[in-house]
Amino acid sequence: MNDMTVDIWHARSRDLQIRGEAFIDGRYTKALSDATFESFNPATGKLLGVIASAEEADVDRAVASARKAFAQGSWSKAAPRERKAKLLKFAELIESNADELALLETLDMGKPIRDSLSVDLPLSINCIRWYAEAVDKVYDEIAPTPSTAISLMRREPLGVVAAIVPWNFPLLMASWKIAPILAAGNSVILKPAEQSSLTAIRIAEFAAAAGIPDGVFNVLPGRGEIAGKALGLHMDVDCIAFTGSTEVGKYFMQYAGQSNLKRVGLECGGKSPNIIFADAPDLDAAAISAAWGIFYNQGEVCNAGSRLIVEDKVKDQVVEKIIATAKAMKVGDPLDPRTDIGAIVDGKQADTIMNYIESGIAEGATLRLGGKRMEAGDGHFIEPTLFDDVDNKMKIAQEEIFGPVLSTISVKDEDEAIAVGNDTIYGLAAGIWTSNINRAFKVSSALRAGVVWVNCFDHGDISSPFGGFKQSGSGRDKSLHALEKYTDLKATWINLG
Ligand code: NAD
Repeated sequence: MNDMTVDIWHARSRDLQIRGEAFIDGRYTKALSDATFESFNPATGKLLGVIASAEEADVDRAVASARKAFAQGSWSKAAPRERKAKLLKFAELIESNADELALLETLDMGKPIRDSLSVDLPLSINCIRWYAEAVDKVYDEIAPTPSTAISLMRREPLGVVAAIVPWNFPLLMASWKIAPILAAGNSVILKPAEQSSLTAIRIAEFAAAAGIPDGVFNVLPGRGEIAGKALGLHMDVDCIAFTGSTEVGKYFMQYAGQSNLKRVGLECGGKSPNIIFADAPDLDAAAISAAWGIFYNQGEVCNAGSRLIVEDKVKDQVVEKIIATAKAMKVGDPLDPRTDIGAIVDGKQADTIMNYIESGIAEGATLRLGGKRMEAGDGHFIEPTLFDDVDNKMKIAQEEIFGPVLSTISVKDEDEAIAVGNDTIYGLAAGIWTSNINRAFKVSSALRAGVVWVNCFDHGDISSPFGGFKQSGSGRDKSLHALEKYTDLKATWINLG
């Protein structure tokens, strides 16, 4: 663990050079129209940098460059071991600049520096290494044909893939996309969220230095409804790799329908149930995990365990332990390595969260913890908040809040836990705490979610797929399954007769 103090991080942030340009065809560039937007530090409200705001004309030139590189073949047709070597170099350059990237991430979106250093950076680096290492080991197939023919089933790269990502784990969500997209041989255009463009812009330089050819890796900062929409509607983009809200995910399906029927992979929102049964192996451990499962990253986590579904006979014990755990969490300066909960990404998101808290009170839930904004100059901070006596029909139980707000729902038995767990439009993740193996299997099978954790929450590694059922999306990030999204299956039937 990095042993820098809060003062050293503040000093380093004052010296930091912020790059704000787009990266197209192997070089940094302004938007053709010179359009820009401002990026602020959510912990202080101070201006961090001025960022190029890509528009349709910039999307056109990025797509043209990506297409040219794909057709020319120096990446798309390179031997997998060559792509592997360059991606490993890319990961190495990110690793050797990890402190700077962690600082950029924390300044840009408000997460604690300790988490940027110990979670976002190592997981991003590991993700790029993992796909690099995988790509020269995955084989294609031959069908069981008669001896008069041979049928080859080969996976081919799609071409130009646009990766549109959110602000909550900017570098990690980008890595989950760009690593398998590039490993499979595609060209990529990465569009970061407008709240958090800095690490995406910075790593473009490392991609070029690692030898990834010009045009293969592009970064287009810009507004969703301009740059994102233009990518979604572009006739020469073959695939959209999207992570973000369900609302915007639906737009991308429409854009595909209105344009060239491009493939669309969607990793969207969630309202994940975390179900604690009275027979959990360790109720205190379950409660501590439930607290981190909602308050980590300020609750700005797609798979946050935002609905605590707990068997009524142990509810009070669990809630008391969660409250005690949350009270010990330090909320404040993201650059202080002792901080557990940092700043909310911007004022708009903080207002959204506060509106949900007010709606919970108005609908009759019992506010047991938090519920207030914290005064901190122009920064945006919200206390960890716990509601008890929540009915699953309430807005705070149905809608994704994307903030540090936990809704507690009591249930009498297993059947009710399953029914409440599934009573949601989402299906991203779920947690179950029980010592009964039959119950663990039965409930995990019954829950309509892409990821189910038993006796833990938010565990896993890059080898395990991640993604949602229902309106949480389609397709999977992580694991070898992600390569399926960025390749097309070609059957070649060779007549030997
Ligand atoms: P968002 O949907 O507002 O934005 C995501 C991206 O889409 C951004 O790059 C944005 O600029 C772009 N965008 C916005 N409006 C657009 C439009 N009209 N046309 C085209 N592009 C547009 O999401 P967000 O607020 O950045 O992130 C939070 C959401 O992301 C939450 O719903 C969260 O659950 C989800 N998320 C999901 C996962 C997952 O793996 N399932 C992971 C992280 C975050």
